[in-house]
Amino acid sequence: MMPDFFPEDIKPYIIPEVKGEQFYKCLGCSAEYSIEKLLYVCPECHQVLLIHDHNAQSLKKIPGRVWQKIFDFRKMLKIPALKGIYRYHEFIGPSIPLESIIYLGEGHTPVIEANENLKEKVGLSFFYKNDGQNPSASFKDRGMASALSSIKYLIDQNLVSDVIAVCASTGDTSASAALYASYLSPLIKSAVLLPHKKVTSQQLSQPLGSGAQVFEIPGVFDDCMKIVEHLSSQYSVVLLNSKNAWRILGQESYSYEIAQDFEWEMRGKVVVVPIGNAGNITAVMNGFIKFYEADIINCLPKIIGVQSEHADPVYRYYLEPDEAKRKFVPVDTKPSVAQAAMIGNPVSMPRVIQIAKKFNALAGRQNVFFVQVTEQSIMEWQLAANRNGHIACTQGGECLAGLVQAFKQNIVTNKETAILDATAHAIKFSEFQDLYFKSEMPEDYKIDPDPGNINLPSLILPDNSDIVPSQTKRLKEKDFQKFVKDISNKIAERLNLKVSL
Ligand SMILES: *Cc1c(COP(=O)(O)O)cnc(C)c1O
Ligand SMILES: [Zn+2]
Repeated sequence: MMPDFFPEDIKPYIIPEVKGEQFYKCLGCSAEYSIEKLLYVCPECHQVLLIHDHNAQSLKKIPGRVWQKIFDFRKMLKIPALKGIYRYHEFIGPSIPLESIIYLGEGHTPVIEANENLKEKVGLSFFYKNDGQNPSASFKDRGMASALSSIKYLIDQNLVSDVIAVCASTGDTSASAALYASYLSPLIKSAVLLPHKKVTSQQLSQPLGSGAQVFEIPGVFDDCMKIVEHLSSQYSVVLLNSKNAWRILGQESYSYEIAQDFEWEMRGKVVVVPIGNAGNITAVMNGFIKFYEADIINCLPKIIGVQSEHADPVYRYYLEPDEAKRKFVPVDTKPSVAQAAMIGNPVSMPRVIQIAKKFNALAGRQNVFFVQVTEQSIMEWQLAANRNGHIACTQGGECLAGLVQAFKQNIVTNKETAILDATAHAIKFSEFQDLYFKSEMPEDYKIDPDPGNINLPSLILPDNSDIVPSQTKRLKEKDFQKFVKDISNKIAERLNLKVSL
């Protein structure tokens, strides 16, 4: 629809203007810095940053109901810059002009209701939001669209040039960073650091295909992260990990979409996310807070962060009920099928601590919870979800296992409706399914395959296995007829088929 045809009350707002006055703010000392510089930590106290907007107060002058209408009508626009996460421009990048925005099809991912069969197994009603249906097949594209748009803005302003973007990754950040950087070639080159043998072959193929320089490093993600942090403090590079505060802003779109997906009604809703480097849960909480403060939603949903028993530093931190006594201790991770979240020292921990506290205060009660799940339950709930029509990755399985765990602990009731983050597409992590089905899961995962869950292909051969078709030599008609009949009979027998009349 052309902007001219929009209702009068929203017409002035339908195409966003650049009114934002965004700035970096340090979580430690509250110092403020210009977004015109590349900055990842506070130069004074080295704490992480978040981006705020001096103009945010003025967004509250527009009533919540009008905002809802603006976003609902923006769905009909055909302007590429506003088709993705920037539908919520005023809340994500109000300082970024539309000309600098990169759109590769991210965001607005489908929300799929669980069928009766799966609801019954779990005990309450829930939906998966399929973030695996983003361009590089994970939610990371939301943050990357924001980060790369911010860099494009700096390039357009002649504030930076010859950009080399770097990131450490458990697989999906690098796939996303390489994809978005390649769209801006030759303005940007990208380099990614991956823990050797700790990403799936699909994830490794992605940055290679996008033309990034790929470095494999011995150790785990946390080790790669330290190297990237060193590089970004010593050399002129753009850091694309979620330490980069623009990543957080982009990922807030996940919450904005949930609000819009559920007609702005957040009462009785529970949002479940897996936690790795904790960028995503930071963004999810912050997004809901911003919409709540702007009156776009009238209540905050419950948030449940899920961690595997093999990588659970955030869960452990919150085990201590007394806030004053909590102390963050990084953990050494053990092998996890939720490999994209296998992080022992999450960079966004200070953000989580501050924002979860604010979230609970605004809700007037504890509204953010953390649960821990076993590796076995992650695998089993992933398989259960996918046998009921979903495309959940292992981290999506972790979410469902977390919901079941939260239900057991009475953190949620069957009166509530959960929205689970299927953070990546199942096919990125199919190697774990293969290991499970072949009963080849290495010992240290502590997963014991349930024979009832195993699914393997069967090779069907005719009685005479020498007379089979091949690409180079077709069978004689009579032999082929016999082959078709023979194989059909064998399949019919396996499937217990009845002869039709
Ligand atoms: C990155 C990632 C996570 C963890 O998200 P954080 O923001 O690091 O907490 C979970 N699942 C998938 C598929 C990921 O790629
Ligand atoms: Zn500081």
